[in-house]
Amino acid sequence: MGAPLCFRCWWYTLRTMNTPVLYNLALPELEELLRGWGEPAFRAKQIYRQLYVKLADDPATMTDLPAALRDRLSSEARLGSLALDRVQVADDGLTRKALFRLDDGAVVETVLMIYPDRATVCVSTQAGCGMGCVFCATGRMGLLRNLSTGEIVEQALWASRELRRESGADDGPQTTDDSSRGGDERWWSDERDSGSGGRRSSVVGRRLSRLTNLVFMGMGEPFANYDRWWAAVERLHDPAGFNLGARSMTVSTVGLVPGIRRLTEQRIPINLAISLHAPTDELRSELMPVNRKFPLDELLGATREYTEHTGRRVSFEYVLLQGRNDHPHQALALAKLLRGHDAPGRHRGVPLLCHVNLIPWNPVPGTALGRSERERVLAFQRVLLDYGVICTVRVERGVAIAAACGQLAGVSETIPLAMV
Ligand code: SAH
Ligand code: SF4
Repeated sequence: MGAPLCFRCWWYTLRTMNTPVLYNLALPELEELLRGWGEPAFRAKQIYRQLYVKLADDPATMTDLPAALRDRLSSEARLGSLALDRVQVADDGLTRKALFRLDDGAVVETVLMIYPDRATVCVSTQAGCGMGCVFCATGRMGLLRNLSTGEIVEQALWASRELRRESGADDGPQTTDDSSRGGDERWWSDERDSGSGGRRSSVVGRRLSRLTNLVFMGMGEPFANYDRWWAAVERLHDPAGFNLGARSMTVSTVGLVPGIRRLTEQRIPINLAISLHAPTDELRSELMPVNRKFPLDELLGATREYTEHTGRRVSFEYVLLQGRNDHPHQALALAKLLRGHDAPGRHRGVPLLCHVNLIPWNPVPGTALGRSERERVLAFQRVLLDYGVICTVRVERGVAIAAACGQLAGVSETIPLAMV
Protein backbone atom coordinates (compact mmCIF):
# COMPACT_ATOMS: atom_id res chain seq x y z
CA MET A 1 0.00 0.00 0.00
CA GLY A 2 1.09 3.56 -0.62
CA ALA A 3 1.06 6.50 1.77
CA PRO A 4 -2.31 7.62 3.21
CA LEU A 5 -4.54 9.54 0.81
CA CYS A 6 -4.48 13.31 0.97
CA PHE A 7 -7.73 15.04 1.91
CA ARG A 8 -8.58 15.90 -1.69
CA CYS A 9 -8.21 12.28 -2.82
CA TRP A 10 -10.03 10.96 0.23
CA TRP A 11 -12.98 13.29 -0.35
CA TYR A 12 -13.08 12.47 -4.05
CA THR A 13 -12.98 8.73 -3.34
CA LEU A 14 -15.81 9.02 -0.83
CA ARG A 15 -17.92 11.06 -3.23
CA THR A 16 -17.41 8.71 -6.15
CA MET A 17 -17.28 5.27 -4.57
CA ASN A 18 -20.97 4.51 -5.03
CA THR A 19 -21.31 6.01 -8.47
CA PRO A 20 -21.31 3.42 -11.27
CA VAL A 21 -18.50 3.82 -13.77
CA LEU A 22 -19.89 2.88 -17.18
CA TYR A 23 -16.58 1.73 -18.69
CA ASN A 24 -16.41 -0.85 -15.92
CA LEU A 25 -19.64 -2.46 -17.08
CA ALA A 26 -19.99 -5.14 -19.72
CA LEU A 27 -23.19 -4.87 -21.78
CA PRO A 28 -25.23 -7.23 -19.54
CA GLU A 29 -24.22 -5.18 -16.49
CA LEU A 30 -25.15 -1.99 -18.25
CA GLU A 31 -28.51 -3.54 -19.08
CA GLU A 32 -28.98 -4.43 -15.44
CA LEU A 33 -28.19 -0.87 -14.35
CA LEU A 34 -30.68 0.54 -16.85
CA ARG A 35 -33.30 -2.02 -15.82
CA GLY A 36 -32.86 -0.85 -12.25
CA TRP A 37 -33.52 2.68 -13.46
CA GLY A 38 -36.77 1.52 -15.07
CA GLU A 39 -35.47 1.99 -18.62
CA PRO A 40 -36.22 -0.38 -21.53
CA ALA A 41 -33.44 -2.83 -22.48
CA PHE A 42 -32.63 -1.16 -25.78
CA ARG A 43 -31.45 1.97 -23.95
CA ALA A 44 -28.41 0.03 -22.68
CA LYS A 45 -27.47 -0.87 -26.24
CA GLN A 46 -27.83 2.76 -27.30
CA ILE A 47 -25.53 3.86 -24.50
CA TYR A 48 -23.06 1.07 -25.26
CA ARG A 49 -22.94 2.23 -28.86
CA GLN A 50 -22.43 5.80 -27.77
CA LEU A 51 -19.52 4.78 -25.55
CA TYR A 52 -17.65 2.45 -27.88
CA VAL A 53 -18.70 3.35 -31.41
CA LYS A 54 -19.39 7.06 -31.17
CA LEU A 55 -16.71 7.48 -28.46
CA ALA A 56 -18.96 9.91 -26.57
CA ASP A 57 -17.19 11.46 -23.60
CA ASP A 58 -20.19 13.29 -22.19
CA PRO A 59 -23.77 12.05 -21.75
CA ALA A 60 -24.98 15.44 -23.01
CA THR A 61 -23.78 14.49 -26.51
CA MET A 62 -25.82 11.26 -26.56
CA THR A 63 -28.62 12.94 -28.40
CA ASP A 64 -30.41 9.72 -29.32
CA LEU A 65 -31.31 9.36 -25.62
CA PRO A 66 -34.17 11.21 -23.94
CA ALA A 67 -32.99 14.34 -22.14
CA ALA A 68 -34.07 12.95 -18.76
CA LEU A 69 -31.87 9.88 -19.19
CA ARG A 70 -28.92 12.00 -20.27
CA ASP A 71 -29.38 14.09 -17.14
CA ARG A 72 -29.56 11.00 -14.99
CA LEU A 73 -26.41 9.58 -16.53
CA SER A 74 -24.65 12.87 -15.83
CA SER A 75 -25.73 13.04 -12.23
CA GLU A 76 -25.84 9.40 -11.15
CA ALA A 77 -23.11 7.71 -13.20
CA ARG A 78 -19.64 8.42 -14.49
CA LEU A 79 -18.39 7.37 -17.88
CA GLY A 80 -14.86 6.69 -16.74
CA SER A 81 -12.50 7.36 -13.91
CA LEU A 82 -9.27 8.54 -15.51
CA ALA A 83 -8.48 12.21 -15.08
CA LEU A 84 -6.09 13.46 -17.73
CA ASP A 85 -3.28 15.25 -15.95
CA ARG A 86 -1.12 16.14 -18.91
CA VAL A 87 -0.03 15.07 -22.37
CA GLN A 88 3.61 15.24 -23.43
CA VAL A 89 4.45 15.28 -27.09
CA ALA A 90 7.56 14.14 -28.99
CA ASP A 91 8.64 13.09 -32.47
CA ASP A 92 6.97 16.11 -34.06
CA GLY A 93 3.64 15.31 -32.47
CA LEU A 94 3.62 11.71 -33.60
CA THR A 95 4.24 10.34 -30.10
CA ARG A 96 2.06 11.41 -27.19
CA LYS A 97 2.26 10.28 -23.62
CA ALA A 98 -0.77 10.86 -21.44
CA LEU A 99 -0.54 10.82 -17.70
CA PHE A 100 -3.81 9.95 -15.99
CA ARG A 101 -4.73 10.35 -12.36
CA LEU A 102 -6.88 7.59 -10.91
CA ASP A 103 -9.57 8.00 -8.26
CA ASP A 104 -7.25 6.98 -5.45
CA GLY A 105 -4.44 9.28 -6.53
CA ALA A 106 -2.33 6.65 -8.32
CA VAL A 107 -1.14 7.58 -11.79
CA VAL A 108 -0.75 5.62 -15.02
CA GLU A 109 0.60 6.43 -18.43
CA THR A 110 -0.58 5.67 -21.95
CA VAL A 111 1.39 6.27 -25.13
CA LEU A 112 -0.03 6.92 -28.60
CA MET A 113 2.34 6.44 -31.53
CA ILE A 114 1.29 7.58 -34.97
CA TYR A 115 2.98 6.17 -38.07
CA PRO A 116 2.29 6.77 -41.74
CA ASP A 117 0.23 3.63 -42.04
CA ARG A 118 -0.91 2.85 -38.52
CA ALA A 119 -1.59 4.24 -35.09
CA THR A 120 -0.67 2.21 -32.03
CA VAL A 121 -1.62 2.79 -28.43
CA CYS A 122 0.47 1.34 -25.62
CA VAL A 123 -1.81 0.64 -22.68
CA SER A 124 -1.04 0.10 -18.97
CA THR A 125 -2.63 -2.71 -16.99
CA GLN A 126 -1.36 -1.91 -13.50
CA ALA A 127 -0.27 1.18 -11.61
CA GLY A 128 3.37 0.30 -11.09
CA CYS A 129 4.53 -3.30 -11.29
CA GLY A 130 5.56 -5.88 -8.75
CA MET A 131 7.88 -7.92 -11.00
CA GLY A 132 11.03 -5.98 -10.19
CA CYS A 133 12.91 -6.31 -13.50
CA VAL A 134 16.13 -4.39 -12.86
CA PHE A 135 16.17 -2.53 -16.19
CA CYS A 136 12.61 -1.16 -16.04
CA ALA A 137 11.43 2.16 -14.64
CA THR A 138 7.97 0.80 -13.82
CA GLY A 139 9.50 -2.10 -11.93
CA ARG A 140 11.33 0.34 -9.70
CA MET A 141 8.01 1.82 -8.54
CA GLY A 142 6.76 -1.46 -7.14
CA LEU A 143 3.11 -2.43 -7.52
CA LEU A 144 0.59 0.17 -6.44
CA ARG A 145 -2.50 -1.67 -7.66
CA ASN A 146 -4.22 -3.48 -10.50
CA LEU A 147 -6.21 -1.36 -12.91
CA SER A 148 -9.91 -2.04 -13.33
CA THR A 149 -11.27 -3.16 -16.68
CA GLY A 150 -12.72 0.31 -17.18
CA GLU A 151 -9.39 1.99 -16.48
CA ILE A 152 -7.73 -0.22 -19.10
CA VAL A 153 -10.46 0.29 -21.70
CA GLU A 154 -10.54 4.03 -21.16
CA GLN A 155 -6.91 4.41 -22.23
CA ALA A 156 -7.76 3.00 -25.66
CA LEU A 157 -10.73 5.34 -25.90
CA TRP A 158 -8.49 8.31 -25.11
CA ALA A 159 -6.16 7.35 -27.97
CA SER A 160 -9.05 6.89 -30.37
CA ARG A 161 -10.47 10.27 -29.51
CA GLU A 162 -7.08 11.90 -29.99
CA LEU A 163 -6.86 10.44 -33.47
CA ARG A 164 -10.38 11.30 -34.36
CA ARG A 165 -10.19 14.85 -33.06
CA GLU A 166 -7.07 15.61 -35.04
CA SER A 167 -8.12 14.03 -38.23
CA GLY A 168 -11.40 15.89 -38.13
CA ALA A 169 -13.10 12.61 -39.01
CA ASP A 170 -16.76 11.99 -38.39
CA ASP A 171 -17.89 9.72 -35.62
CA GLY A 172 -18.15 6.50 -37.59
CA PRO A 173 -17.05 3.16 -36.19
CA GLN A 174 -13.55 2.96 -34.73
CA THR A 175 -12.27 0.15 -36.85
CA THR A 176 -13.48 -2.93 -38.60
CA ASP A 177 -12.57 -6.56 -38.28
CA ASP A 178 -9.17 -8.21 -38.76
CA SER A 179 -9.60 -8.85 -42.44
CA SER A 180 -10.13 -5.25 -43.43
CA ARG A 181 -7.46 -3.60 -41.34
CA GLY A 182 -4.88 -1.46 -43.01
CA GLY A 183 -7.12 -0.13 -45.76
CA ASP A 184 -7.87 3.06 -43.93
CA GLU A 185 -7.92 6.51 -45.44
CA ARG A 186 -4.60 8.31 -45.18
CA TRP A 187 -2.74 10.81 -47.23
CA TRP A 188 0.65 11.48 -45.78
CA SER A 189 3.72 13.28 -46.85
CA ASP A 190 6.27 12.14 -44.36
CA GLU A 191 9.84 13.21 -44.83
CA ARG A 192 11.22 11.53 -41.76
CA ASP A 193 14.19 9.25 -42.06
CA SER A 194 14.98 9.92 -45.66
CA GLY A 195 18.08 7.81 -45.13
CA SER A 196 20.49 10.68 -44.62
CA GLY A 197 19.67 10.93 -40.96
CA GLY A 198 17.37 13.91 -41.47
CA ARG A 199 14.76 14.03 -38.70
CA ARG A 200 12.53 16.78 -40.10
CA SER A 201 9.01 15.64 -40.25
CA SER A 202 6.35 17.30 -42.26
CA VAL A 203 3.03 15.64 -42.07
CA VAL A 204 0.65 16.97 -44.63
CA GLY A 205 -2.93 16.07 -45.26
CA ARG A 206 -5.29 13.91 -43.29
CA ARG A 207 -4.00 11.76 -40.54
CA LEU A 208 -5.13 8.31 -39.65
CA SER A 209 -8.42 8.69 -37.91
CA ARG A 210 -8.57 5.17 -36.48
CA LEU A 211 -6.59 3.23 -33.98
CA THR A 212 -5.09 0.27 -35.81
CA ASN A 213 -3.04 -1.42 -33.08
CA LEU A 214 -3.10 -1.79 -29.34
CA VAL A 215 -0.22 -3.20 -27.30
CA PHE A 216 -0.46 -4.07 -23.63
CA MET A 217 3.10 -2.96 -23.03
CA GLY A 218 2.61 0.01 -20.76
CA MET A 219 2.94 -0.03 -17.00
CA GLY A 220 2.44 -3.35 -15.29
CA GLU A 221 2.26 -7.03 -16.00
CA PRO A 222 -1.01 -7.92 -17.77
CA PHE A 223 -1.02 -11.55 -16.63
CA ALA A 224 -0.75 -10.45 -13.01
CA ASN A 225 -4.13 -8.76 -13.53
CA TYR A 226 -5.49 -11.42 -15.86
CA ASP A 227 -9.25 -11.33 -15.31
CA ARG A 228 -9.69 -7.58 -15.53
CA TRP A 229 -7.23 -7.34 -18.38
CA TRP A 230 -9.00 -10.07 -20.36
CA ALA A 231 -12.38 -8.44 -19.79
CA ALA A 232 -10.84 -5.31 -21.35
CA VAL A 233 -9.70 -7.35 -24.36
CA GLU A 234 -13.21 -8.72 -24.80
CA ARG A 235 -14.74 -5.28 -24.51
CA LEU A 236 -12.36 -3.71 -27.03
CA HIS A 237 -12.81 -6.59 -29.42
CA ASP A 238 -16.61 -6.62 -29.32
CA PRO A 239 -17.86 -6.13 -32.91
CA ALA A 240 -20.97 -4.40 -31.54
CA GLY A 241 -18.75 -1.85 -29.82
CA PHE A 242 -15.14 -0.75 -30.21
CA ASN A 243 -14.51 -3.55 -32.70
CA LEU A 244 -10.73 -3.76 -32.56
CA GLY A 245 -9.50 -6.85 -34.40
CA ALA A 246 -7.87 -9.59 -32.33
CA ARG A 247 -4.74 -9.56 -34.46
CA SER A 248 -4.48 -5.84 -33.86
CA MET A 249 -3.88 -6.47 -30.17
CA THR A 250 -0.65 -7.72 -28.59
CA VAL A 251 -0.02 -8.61 -24.98
CA SER A 252 3.47 -8.65 -23.57
CA THR A 253 4.28 -10.75 -20.52
CA VAL A 254 7.30 -11.01 -18.31
CA GLY A 255 6.77 -14.77 -18.54
CA LEU A 256 4.02 -15.72 -16.11
CA VAL A 257 3.44 -19.30 -17.19
CA PRO A 258 -0.13 -19.65 -15.84
CA GLY A 259 -1.09 -16.61 -17.91
CA ILE A 260 0.43 -18.11 -21.06
CA ARG A 261 -1.53 -21.29 -20.43
CA ARG A 262 -4.76 -19.36 -19.98
CA LEU A 263 -4.18 -17.35 -23.11
CA THR A 264 -3.60 -20.58 -25.04
CA GLU A 265 -7.21 -21.50 -24.30
CA GLN A 266 -8.81 -18.14 -25.06
CA ARG A 267 -10.94 -17.85 -28.15
CA ILE A 268 -9.92 -14.32 -29.14
CA PRO A 269 -6.60 -14.82 -30.98
CA ILE A 270 -4.59 -11.80 -29.88
CA ASN A 271 -0.81 -11.76 -30.36
CA LEU A 272 1.58 -12.84 -27.63
CA ALA A 273 4.96 -11.29 -26.89
CA ILE A 274 7.24 -12.70 -24.20
CA SER A 275 10.02 -10.75 -22.52
CA LEU A 276 13.02 -13.05 -22.60
CA HIS A 277 16.11 -10.83 -22.25
CA ALA A 278 18.60 -13.60 -21.43
CA PRO A 279 19.52 -17.03 -22.80
CA THR A 280 20.41 -18.63 -19.44
CA ASP A 281 18.56 -19.03 -16.16
CA GLU A 282 21.44 -17.53 -14.25
CA LEU A 283 21.44 -14.26 -16.15
CA ARG A 284 17.68 -14.12 -16.54
CA SER A 285 17.17 -14.49 -12.80
CA GLU A 286 19.60 -11.63 -12.21
CA LEU A 287 17.70 -9.34 -14.57
CA MET A 288 14.18 -10.63 -13.94
CA PRO A 289 13.38 -12.10 -10.50
CA VAL A 290 10.32 -13.84 -11.99
CA ASN A 291 12.69 -16.33 -13.62
CA ARG A 292 13.26 -17.97 -10.24
CA LYS A 293 9.61 -18.93 -10.20
CA PHE A 294 9.23 -19.72 -13.89
CA PRO A 295 12.63 -20.71 -15.27
CA LEU A 296 13.41 -20.95 -18.97
CA ASP A 297 12.53 -24.62 -19.38
CA GLU A 298 9.06 -24.10 -18.01
CA LEU A 299 8.56 -20.82 -19.84
CA LEU A 300 9.63 -22.20 -23.21
CA GLY A 301 7.62 -25.36 -22.59
CA ALA A 302 4.44 -23.32 -22.06
CA THR A 303 5.35 -21.23 -25.10
CA ARG A 304 5.65 -24.33 -27.25
CA GLU A 305 2.27 -25.54 -26.05
CA TYR A 306 0.89 -22.14 -27.02
CA THR A 307 2.37 -22.19 -30.54
CA GLU A 308 1.40 -25.81 -31.14
CA HIS A 309 -2.12 -25.36 -29.86
CA THR A 310 -2.86 -22.06 -31.59
CA GLY A 311 -0.61 -22.25 -34.64
CA ARG A 312 0.40 -18.67 -33.90
CA ARG A 313 3.93 -17.30 -33.83
CA VAL A 314 5.12 -15.70 -30.60
CA SER A 315 7.39 -12.75 -30.43
CA PHE A 316 10.29 -12.70 -27.95
CA GLU A 317 11.43 -9.33 -26.71
CA TYR A 318 15.09 -9.01 -25.86
CA VAL A 319 16.30 -5.77 -24.29
CA LEU A 320 19.98 -5.26 -25.09
CA LEU A 321 22.14 -4.15 -22.18
CA GLN A 322 25.73 -3.27 -22.94
CA GLY A 323 28.08 -5.94 -21.66
CA ARG A 324 25.36 -7.87 -19.81
CA ASN A 325 23.35 -9.83 -22.34
CA ASP A 326 24.58 -8.59 -25.71
CA HIS A 327 27.67 -10.77 -26.39
CA PRO A 328 27.73 -12.79 -29.62
CA HIS A 329 28.07 -15.99 -27.58
CA GLN A 330 24.83 -15.06 -25.80
CA ALA A 331 23.17 -14.51 -29.17
CA LEU A 332 24.31 -17.99 -30.17
CA ALA A 333 22.97 -19.48 -26.94
CA LEU A 334 19.65 -17.74 -27.57
CA ALA A 335 19.52 -18.97 -31.16
CA LYS A 336 20.17 -22.54 -30.04
CA LEU A 337 17.49 -22.30 -27.40
CA LEU A 338 14.91 -21.09 -29.88
CA ARG A 339 15.91 -23.51 -32.62
CA GLY A 340 15.37 -26.31 -30.15
CA HIS A 341 18.99 -27.41 -29.85
CA ASP A 342 18.98 -26.89 -26.13
CA ALA A 343 15.35 -27.84 -25.66
CA PRO A 344 14.49 -30.67 -23.32
CA GLY A 345 12.94 -34.04 -24.20
CA ARG A 346 10.63 -34.29 -27.16
CA HIS A 347 11.32 -30.73 -28.26
CA ARG A 348 15.00 -31.24 -28.93
CA GLY A 349 15.74 -30.08 -32.44
CA VAL A 350 12.26 -28.63 -33.03
CA PRO A 351 12.42 -24.88 -33.73
CA LEU A 352 9.95 -22.68 -31.88
CA LEU A 353 7.49 -20.77 -34.05
CA CYS A 354 8.82 -17.38 -33.07
CA HIS A 355 10.34 -14.07 -33.94
CA VAL A 356 12.84 -12.08 -31.86
CA ASN A 357 12.46 -8.36 -31.37
CA LEU A 358 15.67 -6.73 -30.15
CA ILE A 359 15.09 -3.60 -28.07
CA PRO A 360 18.05 -1.33 -27.39
CA TRP A 361 17.64 -0.50 -23.70
CA ASN A 362 16.02 2.85 -22.96
CA PRO A 363 17.75 4.75 -20.19
CA VAL A 364 16.26 4.54 -16.70
CA PRO A 365 17.80 6.99 -14.25
CA GLY A 366 19.44 5.51 -11.19
CA THR A 367 20.51 2.22 -12.77
CA ALA A 368 24.06 1.15 -13.49
CA LEU A 369 23.04 -0.33 -16.83
CA GLY A 370 24.01 0.82 -20.31
CA ARG A 371 22.40 0.77 -23.74
CA SER A 372 24.12 -1.50 -26.23
CA GLU A 373 25.95 0.30 -28.98
CA ARG A 374 24.48 0.01 -32.42
CA GLU A 375 27.25 -2.24 -33.76
CA ARG A 376 26.67 -4.67 -30.91
CA VAL A 377 22.94 -4.70 -31.62
CA LEU A 378 23.57 -5.44 -35.28
CA ALA A 379 26.17 -8.11 -34.47
CA PHE A 380 23.70 -9.78 -32.11
CA GLN A 381 21.04 -9.69 -34.77
CA ARG A 382 23.42 -11.16 -37.37
CA VAL A 383 24.14 -14.21 -35.19
CA LEU A 384 20.44 -14.92 -34.79
CA LEU A 385 19.70 -14.44 -38.47
CA ASP A 386 22.61 -16.67 -39.47
CA TYR A 387 21.19 -19.33 -37.22
CA GLY A 388 17.80 -19.10 -38.88
CA VAL A 389 15.97 -17.11 -36.20
CA ILE A 390 13.80 -14.29 -37.55
CA CYS A 391 14.95 -11.15 -35.79
CA THR A 392 14.20 -7.44 -36.03
CA VAL A 393 15.38 -4.38 -34.12
CA ARG A 394 12.65 -2.25 -32.62
CA VAL A 395 12.60 1.38 -33.60
CA GLU A 396 11.89 3.30 -30.44
CA ARG A 397 9.57 6.22 -30.06
CA GLY A 398 9.26 8.81 -27.34
CA VAL A 399 12.62 8.43 -25.58
CA ALA A 400 12.82 12.21 -25.13
CA ILE A 401 9.62 12.23 -23.04
CA ALA A 402 10.34 8.93 -21.27
CA ALA A 403 7.54 7.29 -23.22
CA ALA A 404 9.54 4.43 -24.70
CA CYS A 405 9.39 0.83 -23.50
CA GLY A 406 10.22 0.48 -19.84
CA GLN A 407 10.44 4.21 -19.16
CA LEU A 408 6.91 4.68 -17.85
CA ALA A 409 7.04 5.57 -14.20
CA GLY A 410 4.07 7.87 -13.75
CA VAL A 411 6.11 10.83 -12.63
CA SER A 412 4.29 14.10 -12.97
CA GLU A 413 5.22 17.60 -11.95
CA THR A 414 1.82 18.06 -10.38
CA ILE A 415 1.42 14.64 -8.81
CA PRO A 416 4.48 13.56 -6.88
CA LEU A 417 4.70 9.82 -6.46
CA ALA A 418 4.70 10.21 -2.71
CA MET A 419 0.98 10.94 -2.94
CA VAL A 420 0.07 7.45 -4.03
N1 SAH B 1 5.20 -6.33 -18.08
C1 SAH B 1 5.19 -6.71 -19.43
C2 SAH B 1 4.75 -5.60 -20.36
C3 SAH B 1 5.23 -4.21 -20.06
S1 SAH B 1 6.93 -3.92 -20.36
C4 SAH B 1 6.54 -7.27 -19.84
O1 SAH B 1 7.47 -7.13 -19.08
O2 SAH B 1 6.61 -7.87 -20.89
C5 SAH B 1 7.01 -3.89 -22.14
C6 SAH B 1 8.37 -4.27 -22.69
O3 SAH B 1 9.35 -3.26 -22.39
C7 SAH B 1 8.93 -5.57 -22.11
O4 SAH B 1 9.50 -6.37 -23.11
C8 SAH B 1 10.00 -5.05 -21.19
O5 SAH B 1 10.98 -6.01 -20.92
C9 SAH B 1 10.54 -3.88 -21.97
N2 SAH B 1 11.33 -2.95 -21.18
C10 SAH B 1 11.28 -2.72 -19.86
N3 SAH B 1 12.17 -1.76 -19.51
C11 SAH B 1 12.78 -1.38 -20.64
C12 SAH B 1 13.77 -0.39 -20.95
N4 SAH B 1 14.26 0.39 -20.01
N5 SAH B 1 14.17 -0.28 -22.22
C13 SAH B 1 13.63 -1.04 -23.20
N6 SAH B 1 12.67 -1.95 -22.98
C14 SAH B 1 12.26 -2.13 -21.72
FE1 SF4 C 1 6.97 -5.09 -14.81
FE2 SF4 C 1 7.31 -5.56 -17.42
FE3 SF4 C 1 8.71 -3.65 -16.15
FE4 SF4 C 1 9.23 -6.21 -15.64
S1 SF4 C 1 9.51 -5.13 -17.61
S2 SF4 C 1 9.02 -4.58 -14.12
S3 SF4 C 1 7.20 -7.07 -15.77
S4 SF4 C 1 6.52 -3.68 -16.48
